[in-house]
Amino acid sequence: MSIKVEYLGMSLSIDELDGENLAYFKHCAEHNFHLQACADCGLLRYPPTTACPWCMSREARWQPVEGKGAVHAYTEVHHAIQPAFKGHTPYLVLLVDLDTQKGKPSEHEALRVVGNLTTPDGKLAPPDMVKRVGIGTRVRMVFSDVGPGLALPQWTIDEAARQPDKPWRYPQE
Ligand SMILES: [Zn+2]
Repeated sequence: MSIKVEYLGMSLSIDELDGENLAYFKHCAEHNFHLQACADCGLLRYPPTTACPWCMSREARWQPVEGKGAVHAYTEVHHAIQPAFKGHTPYLVLLVDLDTQKGKPSEHEALRVVGNLTTPDGKLAPPDMVKRVGIGTRVRMVFSDVGPGLALPQWTIDEAARQPDKPWRYPQE
């Protein structure tokens, strides 16, 4: 069954033929983070796909994965292209290296999960929080409830983790 909801006044939908994403977001709706683990080579993958990107196997099972990691890269958006985001600038789009499977299958690889920086309750982060985050910041996954059957995986500062003294940020001001 397809999912259709509204987020910040925009319509979001996942088609019923998109089986991998429906399964992925079904777990997210329950605030659980699951990824596909390949039944042949055992590697996890993200984003959800039909076949393993490393061994091409189509057999996989869903496995719970810890939503913790460090910021690998970020974009700080000051000029929102989509009108729905205009009231939320500046906001961050984060690419986060999960601790799970970091450095596999090669030393340069990791499961890199995209999301916005949010408060612990899943609201887009205010400017003073945005300024504290850069490459290396430790984050944990939280979920933004969007509507029936859909929650978006997002990232918030992991206050319990040891943080880098000065996460790398673009020079500003
Ligand atoms: Zn595989």
